Amino acid sequence: MLSAHSTTDHSASPSVNGVAFEHSTGSRETFRVESENVVYTENHIDSTYVYRDSKVLRSANGLTVVPTEKTYHFRTNRKVPRVGLMMVGWGGNNGSTLTASIIANRKNITWRTKEGVQTPNYYGSVTQASTLKLGVDEKNQDVHIPFSEVLPMVHPNDLVLGGWDISSANLAESMERAQVLEYDLQRQVRDELEGLKPLPSIYYPDYIAANQSDRADNVLPGTKQQHLEKIRQDIREFKAANHLDKVIVLWTANTERFSSIIPGVNDTAEALLNSIKQGHDEVAPSTVFAVACILEKVPFVNGSPQNTFVPGCVELAITHKVYIGGDDFKSGQTKFKSVMVDFLVNAGIKPIGITSYNHLGNNDGKNLSAPQQFRSKEISKSNVVDDMVAANPILYKKGEHPDHIVVIKYCPAVGDSKRALDEYVSEIFMGGRNTISTYNVCEDSLLASPLILDLTIITELMTRIEYRTDDMEEYSPFHSVLSVLSYMLKAPMVPPGTPVVNALAKQRAAMENIFRACVGLPPQNDMMLEHKAI
Ligand code: NAD
Repeated sequence: MLSAHSTTDHSASPSVNGVAFEHSTGSRETFRVESENVVYTENHIDSTYVYRDSKVLRSANGLTVVPTEKTYHFRTNRKVPRVGLMMVGWGGNNGSTLTASIIANRKNITWRTKEGVQTPNYYGSVTQASTLKLGVDEKNQDVHIPFSEVLPMVHPNDLVLGGWDISSANLAESMERAQVLEYDLQRQVRDELEGLKPLPSIYYPDYIAANQSDRADNVLPGTKQQHLEKIRQDIREFKAANHLDKVIVLWTANTERFSSIIPGVNDTAEALLNSIKQGHDEVAPSTVFAVACILEKVPFVNGSPQNTFVPGCVELAITHKVYIGGDDFKSGQTKFKSVMVDFLVNAGIKPIGITSYNHLGNNDGKNLSAPQQFRSKEISKSNVVDDMVAANPILYKKGEHPDHIVVIKYCPAVGDSKRALDEYVSEIFMGGRNTISTYNVCEDSLLASPLILDLTIITELMTRIEYRTDDMEEYSPFHSVLSVLSYMLKAPMVPPGTPVVNALAKQRAAMENIFRACVGLPPQNDMMLEHKAI
């Protein structure tokens, strides 16, 4: 058993627009793997991992399968750095809810509700509130550890928070406007939040709904090129003022309309940089943020559905070896759908009609009531069953697809408490029909906030993991497009030309097994032979 590793102590130093917390230790290293494939040094965990798969060869005689092996060497930096999270849209429901909740957790603030006294937690965060099976003990009983302990990870309480918003409201006003957290909690965190004010941001009115214009009172003047430079400067200043080792930037601002992909404008990195210089209309605020981050070598994650990562932006990230991830938080309805359809198709049941209705009454719903912004969300929600359908040619002929309808309506009365009504009509045995209806009521921002944490924590961890194969001379980071974040994202981005996985269980398994590999543990296989072959 290892004791908690030590990290540099930085005292709390809120400045610029950051809320800083005293730095503690990140997650603890609570186990050590004893294996010739794993070496612990002062700074690193080095593991040698044999990745086993199968190569399938097609010929006139049918399929031939050849088991394959490839050796990977993983190197994980054990030192958890001091990390800043800058949110674009900090004053929104997600940004303000997350900020208030981290303060409540950090200070262990309890609050009264009509049900009694509530204590803070990080429920809904895979890293903070779920576990993984490490192995079995002498009596063959499972041993579980918190997910956050598989590798050293930053703790949410240690994040230094900051960001931008086109609304000038301070974080206390934003929290009140969001109407998400209980009054007794709001009351206790208010003073601290009052001191936090988002930095002015980029506002190009035609990218978000016209109904948002009345909150746009904190906007940057100047040209697109000046905006790019100002955002870069903001990141540098935030990092320096808060003595940060690393910054992660995450878009949790309004859903934008899609940008048109135009040859010579945004299809290559060079064209995109030129278009920013020339102030071309088809460069979205979120893309300017992404480019600013890439040029600052800061990872950027997009929690909204729009195509921030136009091809030129992806090329820029790859060229600069900076991590990007997106798109759109997978919080409620889509998360459920990516479980339900996976279950049905893997049970040999054929979903033929999936119909999803949503109504919500928060500012996100208001913005999505405009057609172009709704369209971004509709696209993001629509492809979620594709991989599961394509994987079963017994049920679906080539090109066949279930009918899939997505409706979103703005209904102020329900506030942040989103309603999602889904119907799954499936064909079952001998032409029969099965209809499953689900009704999901949940506070949207309380689902999304823990996802912001996981996206931040895992992205930061990935900046500390490198790999090398036997034919590589040096360690390298992973591909710039961080598909390992897929579990938290509705329309996961993957490296160009690679398959998208939407099925939730597979996404979680990929994340868990990659981290296990980094400490030399085999993938979780659930065979439990020790209880079967006895
Ligand atoms: P919100 O409307 O409450 O907050 C968005 C904030 O972004 C607002 O404060 C707005 O002023 C600000 N903003 C708009 N344009 C900006 C810009 N260019 N720069 C800086 N700030 C800007 O919305 P929310 O409920 O916090 O959701 C945020 C985003 O997350 C939305 O796009 C939403 O679709 C997406 N999302 C949310 C969930 C969820 O469960 N809450 C799930 C998936 C995706």
